[in-house]
Amino acid sequence: MVLKDASLLRNQCYSDGTWVDADNGTTFAVTNPVNGAVIAAVPNCGAAETRRTIDAAEAAFPAWRKKTAAERARVLMRWYELMLEHQDDLATIMTLEQGKPLAEARGEIAYAASFLQWFAEEAKRTYGDVIPSPVADRKIIVLREPVGVCAAITPWNFPAAMITRKVGPALAAGCTIVVKPAEQTPLSAFALAVLAERAGVPKGVFNVLTGEAAQIGGELTSSPKVRKLSFTGSTEIGKLLMQQSAATLKKLSLELGGNAPFIVFDDADLDAAVQGAVISKYRNAGQTCVCSNRFLVQAGIYDAFAEKLANAVAALKVGDGMTDGTQQGPLIDEAAICKVEELVADALAKGACIVGGGKRHELGGTYYTPTVLTHTTAAMRLASEEIFGPVAPLFRFETEDQAVALANDTEYGLAAYFYTRDISRVWRVAEALEYGMVGVNSGLISNEVAPFGGVKSSGFGREGSKYGINEYMELKYVNMG
Ligand code: ADP
Repeated sequence: MVLKDASLLRNQCYSDGTWVDADNGTTFAVTNPVNGAVIAAVPNCGAAETRRTIDAAEAAFPAWRKKTAAERARVLMRWYELMLEHQDDLATIMTLEQGKPLAEARGEIAYAASFLQWFAEEAKRTYGDVIPSPVADRKIIVLREPVGVCAAITPWNFPAAMITRKVGPALAAGCTIVVKPAEQTPLSAFALAVLAERAGVPKGVFNVLTGEAAQIGGELTSSPKVRKLSFTGSTEIGKLLMQQSAATLKKLSLELGGNAPFIVFDDADLDAAVQGAVISKYRNAGQTCVCSNRFLVQAGIYDAFAEKLANAVAALKVGDGMTDGTQQGPLIDEAAICKVEELVADALAKGACIVGGGKRHELGGTYYTPTVLTHTTAAMRLASEEIFGPVAPLFRFETEDQAVALANDTEYGLAAYFYTRDISRVWRVAEALEYGMVGVNSGLISNEVAPFGGVKSSGFGREGSKYGINEYMELKYVNMG
């Protein structure tokens, strides 16, 4: 791996300001999805290491919360600047362990850094309140205080941004945090820790542990010292972590699975819709929780949309993310590509037609050809299951009411998209969609200033924006006589 700053590449956990191995010295392998080559061995920590790290985060909390918001902001700002200074190296590390094209990885580093900048600014605006008292000789004051020690469990699809989106507001609020990154992408998390240390984040305030997910997660959820857990990942594990957190009544933020509809109405700007569809579907090889999962296309425009989308998708350049011009890398692992194959086979067996792709890519490995399917129906598994791969199924509908009913006919409620030029329809449909986020004539909606999050089985809590810091703060009411 050629890095300008080789010290960003670490293979140890970061606990209490120290780089450490697992107690028993065991490791697990991190591989490059392009070819399965082992690129690092990282510590296989368990419950004991987690307990000690929680203790360190608890010990660091009083001094960190006592700092002024401006002092905490300066550290976060420095961390932000360091991320941008090392954007290329951080992107290289990410592409090698995650597979996304280097240009996308660079974009993610900028996006990830933006949460540190944003919450550095927000740290200074965690205002309380003074409430007019119903009693003459009392003052009613509301303070906002950090919740305490936090835990974050993050996925592999955004190895940097899912960490900073949680750690930025936590640290800004005055909390300390223990992060367990996904086992597929720990190197990006370690690199962030290198820069946190350089930025002056005090020891114990930000910690990264890799290892046995169930053991680390078990400790993070059962410890009464951890007051808050923020999780991004599958609905199944989210539910498990919520159950495990019940005994200690933790505050929770859960950002879980999605089944995003992308509705194209007859009156849509067709080219814009195709462009939005490509961005929302094939980014990160379809492996994001806000990726469009179901394209609902009105009958009058269905054939034209299918043809244009198939042409655009056929032009996507598939390959090694490190190669210039690559637009789609491999899927994360064999299990991911098998799931995609199964869903496509099920759709074909039930009458779907391939208008592009539909099979593994000739490059082999976990490369999957960007795919467009027509004649898909609600009876097919991909109508209700998250595909998490580069497959766009096109469902046909006749009326607006039908489109809204189809869009809402899922247990999930994260992101939804629709394209239309009718302004009254924009409001009607945006309000009717049971989703946490809606893109209107836009296939790309994530940024640090807007609240990211879902409803229903997609979880709860909001990340980013002025709302995001609330997840890491408690209100305290003081009644002064
Ligand atoms: P995905 O299918 O995208 O890998 P997961 O929900 O399995 O989604 O993983 C998201 C994160 O949750 C990862 O960091 C993973 O290690 C972690 N995880 C998986 N199982 C558990 C568990 N039992 N306890 C705690 N964390 C877990």
